Amino acid sequence: MHELSICENIVSVIEEQAVEQSFGKVKTVRLEIGPLAGIELEALLFSFDVAAKGGVAENATLEVIEMPVIGLCISCSQSVEVKERYDPCPICGSFQVQITGGEELRIKELEVL
Ligand SMILES: [Zn+2]
Repeated sequence: MHELSICENIVSVIEEQAVEQSFGKVKTVRLEIGPLAGIELEALLFSFDVAAKGGVAENATLEVIEMPVIGLCISCSQSVEVKERYDPCPICGSFQVQITGGEELRIKELEVL
């Protein structure tokens, strides 16, 4: 389950931050996740609890901000929102859309105690 190793990474980043900024407990972790990151949210939430156990992020709430899939249309040069990779441009119908966003997986902010 690769969600667990992702969560272990997230938790270790949080632990580093805790040392750097000297906080002892995390209340909320906000993550930005794009639909193209290939994350199963349910598995992620479950894994996070497992990975956070015994550390500063134990019992923290994981909030997921779902990011849109953004592409740049080569034909009409517009930045457009599409549902998934290989979708046509909603403005001109061209399939030459270069995906520029939607693969995010990052910690946006931490609410600490
Ligand atoms: Zn277009």
